[in-house]
Amino acid sequence: MIMDGKALAAKIRANLKESIDAFKQLNNNSTPCLAVIQVGNNPASTTYVNNKIKACAECGIKSKLYHFLDIAETDLIEKISELNSDPEVHGILVQLPLPEHINEKYVLEAIHPKKDVDAFHPFNTGLLFEGEPEFVPCTPAGIIELLKAYDVDPAGKECVVVGRSNIVGKPIAHLLLQANGTVTICHSKTKNLEEVCKRADILICAIGKPKFFNEDYVKFNSVVIDVGINRDENGKLCGDVDFEAVKDMVKYITPVPGGCGPMTIAMLMKNTYHAAWMQEGAKLNVYAEKNFN
Ligand code: NDP
Repeated sequence: MIMDGKALAAKIRANLKESIDAFKQLNNNSTPCLAVIQVGNNPASTTYVNNKIKACAECGIKSKLYHFLDIAETDLIEKISELNSDPEVHGILVQLPLPEHINEKYVLEAIHPKKDVDAFHPFNTGLLFEGEPEFVPCTPAGIIELLKAYDVDPAGKECVVVGRSNIVGKPIAHLLLQANGTVTICHSKTKNLEEVCKRADILICAIGKPKFFNEDYVKFNSVVIDVGINRDENGKLCGDVDFEAVKDMVKYITPVPGGCGPMTIAMLMKNTYHAAWMQEGAKLNVYAEKNFN
């Protein structure tokens, strides 16, 4: 059965819209605001940025786009510190990848942790590692929401994560661990990958290789989460999983497109709302009374 990320994301955005309308009333019409920074003209980045801005409009979040065709690293960091101290801006997102002359690490570390809606700042990574995250990176957060929505409880299950990036693999492994899964992380040096994946009750595929995971990697009646966004030999969008080869042997599978992608954006909206509450709610001293889930 398909896990419909598109439908779930639409539901989350609609619920958020209601919460944000209430937020505005409680906070003297202050509107949650996301600043999006794009450097360069990577077409995929432009698509992602446009989708994020569209989602903001749908949820009642204000967005501000700062698009630089080129910018020096120091000027970019200066822009971020300006946004850090702008009381109107609650969340800051730098679209990755950045051009080679800019050090991604320095830029991400320049974002104030309380405005770090992508949750890539080491402070937020540390909190996630400790099991008490303030912000959860959007793609892993979306995966957890999908599992919850389909009543898949990782507790006691064999969870295999393939891919160890800071954006997907490592944080989802931590979240599954916190949810009491028994977690194995695989990468390009893993031996007997097929065998390890075949053990998985929950298999997370995040390597960026089109249709890599076929029936040899997948356990019967398992849950397969396909994070990959790739183009196949005909230029068609596809995931890391060979969907046609495995769809009939699994309990649940996420499609590409329509699985993790829309959930990632929905979680960005949720993080922006959370950031706005932290900043505006603190002023009103009502933050502690709010339940953000
Ligand atoms: P990275 O390129 O940063 O990491 C890829 C990981 O996969 C690495 O850890 C690498 O291992 C591992 N890997 C590569 N080849 C193999 C292999 N043959 N066997 C086992 N492991 C392998 O990718 P990201 O995590 O950023 O993204 C992964 C995919 O997810 C991409 O397709 C990306 O587009 C997509 N993505 C989708 C998102 C969404 O919203 N749906 C959001 C973010 C990413 P090693 O560390 O040893 O090199």
